[in-house]
Amino acid sequence: MGKTAIEWTDEVLNVQRGCDAVSPGCAHCWAAATATRFSAPGEAFAGLAKRKALSGGGSLAVWTDKPVMLLPDKMLDVLSWRKPKRVFVNSVSDTFHADVPFEFIAALWAFMACAPTVTFQIVTKRARRMREFFEWTRAHGGPDTWLLRALELCDRQASESGVEMAHRWRKARETLVVRFKAVTARAELTRGLPNMMALENVWLIVSTENQETYDERVAELLQCPAVVRGISAEPLLGPIDLGLGRWIRQTKPVRGIAPGVYRAEPAGASVLVDDGKGGRAYLEADEFEPMPDIDWAIIGGESGAGCRVNELRWTRDMLAQIETFNIARAVDGPGYCAPFLKQLGGAAVDAENGLAGRFYVVDPGAGRKPTVRLKDGHGGDEDEFPTDLRGHRHFPVPRLYRQPDPPVQAARPMGQLGLL
Ligand code: SF4
Repeated sequence: MGKTAIEWTDEVLNVQRGCDAVSPGCAHCWAAATATRFSAPGEAFAGLAKRKALSGGGSLAVWTDKPVMLLPDKMLDVLSWRKPKRVFVNSVSDTFHADVPFEFIAALWAFMACAPTVTFQIVTKRARRMREFFEWTRAHGGPDTWLLRALELCDRQASESGVEMAHRWRKARETLVVRFKAVTARAELTRGLPNMMALENVWLIVSTENQETYDERVAELLQCPAVVRGISAEPLLGPIDLGLGRWIRQTKPVRGIAPGVYRAEPAGASVLVDDGKGGRAYLEADEFEPMPDIDWAIIGGESGAGCRVNELRWTRDMLAQIETFNIARAVDGPGYCAPFLKQLGGAAVDAENGLAGRFYVVDPGAGRKPTVRLKDGHGGDEDEFPTDLRGHRHFPVPRLYRQPDPPVQAARPMGQLGLL
């Protein structure tokens, strides 16, 4: 497994390789850039990525239309992990890519369940397919189907592999049966089996670069069972109203608004819902139910060649929203929505200080505005952040281990940008 410099994880586990772009956040895909360096025949990413010439000169790393490559053997390592650590799953693909069968994802879920000391972090831009995976699980009898698919995978791999790997797959089969039974028994004891759909050690994170992708993907994420639901707003490409304390589920069609999950505006005892398709309606208290909120927000600017501007006021506004929300929950500290400011990126703009590019006011001091050029091209060294942006690297508390959400005390969180 790979060590990584990514600040919010310890290692990466790649059981897939390859992807394709789905939204503006993919324009400078780091994984595609990595893949192009190893895409010759016989190499790890053979044929999966290439460099595309740009009309204005230069080139861009892009994925080819070759299907996503599945690497089931990588799952075997999971069963040997004992020490606690955080593992980012599929850093060079998207777990919920359409090329990846639900049966394969189900097997992955069983392997993760059987490594309970490890925290697995799943990051996806395909939030709808993630929700569909859980619906598929439910329709196929619940979490037991994960084990069944994993056992099928073990049998298939054992029959198709050489002696050594066949032995490993047969051992894995035995381990899965024993450990999954233990995990199931524990879940039944502590929280009732249906809730095992949210594995204790799997965090679900959707990648959201702007308001449009945030609204679309968070609405799906909030419907997925998880002990931690997070966002990765990297690359951050615009301001985002997180809607903390304001996500609702509407179960029936109401005045032209289809059932669904929405970021709503409080209006007295009612809420105002805008479905983003031209429909707007006030819902009375008995026409909606509140939804849980996101538990974690990773924030970061883009880095690398051609990186796009990251206006630091967007970050400051998100941090302000989170702080106000946590205070409204009457929580001391970042327990309810934890911010993690990962990096400023390579083109941060600190307009408050009239500065742009890789130059920042680090410590204005007495009437002075000294600037530095960042040594870290990603803008990921906290010591080089503007003073007010330091100290915002927190991890979420999984919902299993915290009190139920108290009601939000304030009417709504206030952002510095007046976005809310
Ligand atoms: S979803 Fe992720 S891995 Fe896939 S193209 Fe977009 S940025 Fe790259």
